[in-house]
Amino acid sequence: MSRTPPEASPEGPETPTAPTTDVLVVGGGIIGLVTAWRSAQRGLSVAVVDPEPGGGAAQVAAGMLAAVTELHYGEHTLLALNVESARRYPDFAAELSEATGQDLGYRACGTLAVALDADDRAHLRELHALQTKSGLESEWLSGRDCRRLEPMLAPGVRGGLRVDGDHQIDPRRLASALVTACERSGVTFHRTWAERLSVVRDRARGVVLADGTELAAGQVVLAAGSRSGQLAGVPDEVLPPVRPVKGQVLRLTVPKRYAPFLSRTVRAVVRGSHVYLVPRVNGELVVGATSEELGWDTTVTAGGVYELLRDAHELVPGITELPLTETRAGLRPGSPDNAPLLGPTTLPGLHLATGHYRNGVLLTPVTGDAMAHVLATGELPEEASPFTPRRFGAAASVEQPA
Ligand SMILES: Cc1cc2nc3c(=O)[nH]c(=O)nc-3n(C[C@H](O)[C@H](O)[C@H](O)COP(=O)(O)OP(=O)(O)OC[C@H]3O[C@@H](n4cnc5c(N)ncnc54)[C@H](O)[C@@H]3O)c2cc1C
Repeated sequence: MSRTPPEASPEGPETPTAPTTDVLVVGGGIIGLVTAWRSAQRGLSVAVVDPEPGGGAAQVAAGMLAAVTELHYGEHTLLALNVESARRYPDFAAELSEATGQDLGYRACGTLAVALDADDRAHLRELHALQTKSGLESEWLSGRDCRRLEPMLAPGVRGGLRVDGDHQIDPRRLASALVTACERSGVTFHRTWAERLSVVRDRARGVVLADGTELAAGQVVLAAGSRSGQLAGVPDEVLPPVRPVKGQVLRLTVPKRYAPFLSRTVRAVVRGSHVYLVPRVNGELVVGATSEELGWDTTVTAGGVYELLRDAHELVPGITELPLTETRAGLRPGSPDNAPLLGPTTLPGLHLATGHYRNGVLLTPVTGDAMAHVLATGELPEEASPFTPRRFGAAASVEQPA
């Protein structure tokens, strides 16, 4: 579809306007970008508003594609979406790589979830039973077998789950490739903040930018990550109940003489805290992550770094030899049921693509497909229908952190 001329502005003729697009995406994190790219591929004219497209949580995230090892009790509906997105990942990554000429660091390396004491072992056994009951593939290994697979593991490892289907991607590369793919598909970028949603005659019509420019669009997608509940002008009853959940992450470098340090993602629960080590092909080793409910604070704290290093060291003692190259904190867009909000709201013209919490990287392919489908056809595909924002109804006005 081609660009159409601007509509008359409700603010009067002096308000600066830009050309109207079919779709306007607020937020150029991986979720907004994949929505924009897939929509442009369907022939829709698309604009993205973000001061720093490709930034956001993907700059911090580990990039585990962990449909199986991230399984939690009570999240079976989400499991189906996670599994579907994991299934689409190889083709998605190949297509994006080909469209951009960029290597995404997609690595089909599998994951090993291990237990360090009797409690962890019992917990992991339960998880294994749940995975089996859910039809997921995972194999129970003795501590010795775990160490045979990953010799750098601590001698005290009591057992573990080998999950060959949980892979990884480098989220920074993914975000950068999505920006390029959008540019090549004709998506327009407005590198600034959206200040407010424009609602005219009970329909979302576009946004007003920080400089007062008004952007009009046939449909608006709110994909502003943990800030999705903050956009002015969005009526209370459709404001997404999304909150920031802070995660601190460390990046270490494995010198060539130590390679291969780990050959797959290794994770565990140590004293109730989740810790994982994600080895990239380029020698980066990502250690994460804390989970903290502290509003929009992204301070890296001594306590956070200490806990991650302490727990990771218990799992893989040799990490203390590695250079610590980066510490960073990011914000997961958390929702009340830990699942995303996808598709139309009760305000005509306004869609949501947010609340992906700890699985946003994994859910990128299925989100892009679902959002482009609903924007092009008006119908949310079956796999995405349980994630309609309408499931929260009046609960949408959940209290936001200070
Ligand atoms: C520590 C950590 C580890 C993680 N590990 C994993 C993992 O291993 N696997 C996995 O699948 N997921 C992981 N995640 C989760 C994943 O990173 C997120 O779910 C995902 O990146 C969210 O993407 P998003 O585009 O919805 O939001 P964001 O990345 O938050 O992007 C939102 C964008 O919106 C923009 N924006 C906000 N407000 C406005 C506005 N008013 N106007 C214009 N632009 C605006 C921001 O600038 C930002 O660029 C992790 C997250 C963290 C923090």
